[in-house]
Amino acid sequence: MTKDKEQKDDLMEKIVSLCKRRGFIYPSFEIYGGLAGFYDYGPLGVALKKNITNLWWKQFVTDREDVYGIDSALVTKKEVLQASGHARGFADMLSECEKCKHRFRADQLPERSDLKSGKRSDLCPECGGKLGEARQFYMMLETHIGAAEDEASLAYLRPETAQGIFTNFKNIVDSFHPKLPFGIAQIGKAFRNEIAPRDFLFRVRELEQMEVEYFVKEADWKPAFEMWRKEVLSFIEAIGIDAKKVSELEVADGDRAHYSRRTIDFEFEFPFGRKELYGLAYRTDYDLRNHENASGVSQKFLDEDIDEPFIPHVIEPSLGVGRSLLAVLLSAYTEDEMNGEPRTYLKFKPSVAPVKIAVFPLLKNKPELVAKAREVYGVLKKEFGAVMFDDNGNIGKRYRRQDEIGTPFCVTVDFDTVEKDQAVTVRDRDSGKQERVMIKKLFEFLNDKL
Ligand code: ATP
Repeated sequence: MTKDKEQKDDLMEKIVSLCKRRGFIYPSFEIYGGLAGFYDYGPLGVALKKNITNLWWKQFVTDREDVYGIDSALVTKKEVLQASGHARGFADMLSECEKCKHRFRADQLPERSDLKSGKRSDLCPECGGKLGEARQFYMMLETHIGAAEDEASLAYLRPETAQGIFTNFKNIVDSFHPKLPFGIAQIGKAFRNEIAPRDFLFRVRELEQMEVEYFVKEADWKPAFEMWRKEVLSFIEAIGIDAKKVSELEVADGDRAHYSRRTIDFEFEFPFGRKELYGLAYRTDYDLRNHENASGVSQKFLDEDIDEPFIPHVIEPSLGVGRSLLAVLLSAYTEDEMNGEPRTYLKFKPSVAPVKIAVFPLLKNKPELVAKAREVYGVLKKEFGAVMFDDNGNIGKRYRRQDEIGTPFCVTVDFDTVEKDQAVTVRDRDSGKQERVMIKKLFEFLNDKL
């Protein structure tokens, strides 16, 4: 193994272990041995996730006049996914090793080094055994509705949130009478029976997506595509993903999803390679047209400038929540030295940090310090919400713990606070710099910085 690869594997291990130790993310069902591709969010993970999804909702929905938010059913009637093409088309090519029975996605097998043609290996990357013929593997998770378990009761757990948006297109038009262009957005779970879930939150089987379907007149798709490209880039900055590690890939003809006429993948330099973080696709009128044909219900739109009703075209920015979290964690993870000691900290932007401020009494067995610290904590908690009280261990340990979860500011109440100056020490996470701030000015001071 090269040194570079070793360091990158090491970084992923450090992040996975920090996430578990500090209560961000736990493997699901761990007491029963876990289940590949499933993760649970602990208190800090939920807070980080909510901060990210709230920022998305604000930027993509509430700050705009032309996007309507919805929340549609996860279990999806099979006719919907038959019409959208998922029931026949949502599949990956799978190769199974004849010897160790490991399964691989054919398009992700390494290229054969003895051939310069880019041909994929026919040997198992795990044991070197022979790989069988690649075959189609359908990725939708199935369920049954009602008492009978037969073809008629078959339903799917949605593989993307988008179809719930398309099936509500007519509802939004009838309720709100929007003019084109307008969008419908939602954040929610989707399910994919991935052949090889891996790389922590990167490839999971139960995922969460933030998607907008933005409806336009066909002639207007290009400026809308460009507008959403910029919005995605600005979101990447807003949540603190390292923009230097993000690049755009124009997906070639042949490699695009069945519904797309143009796709850009926003890729991130993950430790395990440059991989898709988000997608932006021009889905044409493919979905609405198919739903009109299959349901018999018109999906046409009547525009005041055009004589004939028509089916709008669609631009779709699609962002994974888990991949956002992973890219934010990787961008924030920092190791340095402070006061001669090595330390690890998460350099979160304050807007995504799960805890904004921690408040400590210098000593936990001095009632006057604890009472004052509780009072300060109470005030800050009311104002900022995500504030933590911590009196465990010594101050050095508390700083290290807060650094590791990315808390931007720590506030300490000491003897001077109660006996002399009614001021506290505020310590900055990144520089370690400490400042004395009057309690009556504390809200203003922190509010400016946060
Ligand atoms: P990939 O090629 O990596 O399988 P995809 O092209 O199938 O991804 P899309 O269908 O475009 O992905 O889904 C939109 C977004 O949803 C992705 O950009 C990603 O952020 C997220 N996503 C998709 N599949 C997964 C998964 N299995 N685990 C986590 N996030 C996912």
